[in-house]
Amino acid sequence: MAIATINPATGETLKTFEPLSDQEVEERLARAASEFRTYRNADFKQRASWMRAAADLLESEREEVARLMTTEMGKTLAAARAEATKCVTGMRYYADHAEEFLADEPADARAVGARHAYARYQPLGPVLAVMPWNFPLWQVIRFAAPALMAGNVGLLKHSSNVPQTALYLGELFTRAGFPPGCFQTLLIGSAQVERLLRDERVVAATLTGSEPAGRSVASIAGGEVKKTVLELGGSDPYVVMPSADIEGAVSTAVTARVQNNGQSCIAAKRFIVHADVYDEFAGRFVERMESLRVGDPMEDSTDVGPLATEQGLDDLEKLVADAVGRGARVLCGGVSPDRPGWFYEPTVLAGVTPEMRLFREEAFGPVASLYRVQDIDEAIALANSTSFGLGSNAWTKDEIEQERFVADLEAGMVFVNGMVVSYPQLPFGGVKNSGYGRELSAHGIREFCNLKTVWIG
Ligand code: NAP
Repeated sequence: MAIATINPATGETLKTFEPLSDQEVEERLARAASEFRTYRNADFKQRASWMRAAADLLESEREEVARLMTTEMGKTLAAARAEATKCVTGMRYYADHAEEFLADEPADARAVGARHAYARYQPLGPVLAVMPWNFPLWQVIRFAAPALMAGNVGLLKHSSNVPQTALYLGELFTRAGFPPGCFQTLLIGSAQVERLLRDERVVAATLTGSEPAGRSVASIAGGEVKKTVLELGGSDPYVVMPSADIEGAVSTAVTARVQNNGQSCIAAKRFIVHADVYDEFAGRFVERMESLRVGDPMEDSTDVGPLATEQGLDDLEKLVADAVGRGARVLCGGVSPDRPGWFYEPTVLAGVTPEMRLFREEAFGPVASLYRVQDIDEAIALANSTSFGLGSNAWTKDEIEQERFVADLEAGMVFVNGMVVSYPQLPFGGVKNSGYGRELSAHGIREFCNLKTVWIG
């Protein structure tokens, strides 16, 4: 895939970039390794002041960065602004809390025959971050803020379709005062990732992206005995039970499905509705999905912009065609409007069955599947009948049912009477083929640390 900015709303190539040469990659690796030797000793106060300065810079440049993101990957400008603001919050959160999250953990010294015994979190070294385009700022910040606050240094290999956002991020931390080797962007293609993973100066890797990319990175890193964190795809269920606030469930369902033009790993994708409220929910949901305005993502009145890439649109069209060809019913949408750019109408399908690809695969665009179930057991069984296990949503006022969903949904996250959202304060991650490890909260910052046991007699 060429490294280029191509506006998804028009299909026009705006700027292309040459990948870094081997020599340039080598220089950045050497800089990261040598920077780590000194940066690891910077105290929390110093790291926090640089992190706060980076947050302030981003806050003051929010409008330009938001426009850049919208131009490169098509999210609505309102969503891009909100993403930048979320990053600022996340950076300040780790500036405020890193020291407390990484404080020494005392142990029972007497029980182990010591005068002192405790565990200390220490940074690991240069960590490679392979990141996706869908939240081009937030996915990177939610790695970089904790990693830098922990004393690690970062190397970013971003998606090839968001090079200008990647370059912005590569400069942001240095402009804020971090030493230049602390966080560097490598404009490279995915074929160059293996070489980095095998380089002894790279000590660990995190990947947010598709399952095949995650499998590849994890298997190479595993062969080198290097830790990885994987945040992969999802096909989140959204269960609605009879006691639910139906109006709240419908309006949140629309947001949960079409957020980021339908391209979110934690978007609700499969809507599993109890038979008692199915007709009411389906009627109102389809009506709302149909009323969304598809158009130029720079316009304030637009609800849904284009898909980020031509390939993404092609994949989604094939997924829907396969389902319709095998008998699924289109309740709304199901077409790409006749205009330049990679747009797709908000779509609701019913009658999706296990032999259809849509039943098993992630729909990365504004396509919802509706399922009717008779009881909570059937709802949970259907929700779990996927290889993914990222987020899950359940709507019910019944506390016994709430506890069933919490206990039995096979997912890294369950949100009851709300939609899955990532918050700096809560751990984020999945199970099954959605990956492993956690980002955000105290758990996220500890992923790339050496938890050193200290025993002093
Ligand atoms: P992708 O194709 O896997 O790309 C993600 C990143 O991995 C890009 O930087 C890409 O580089 C790189 N890459 C691709 N193949 C690789 C390989 N074999 N070896 C090393 N690097 C490789 O994913 P995408 O289509 O951009 O993003 C959509 C996917 O990400 C969806 O499945 C979505 O659910 C998932 N996602 C998950 C989360 C989460 O937190 N769980 C969040 C957001 C997105 P190039 O661009 O150069 O190919």
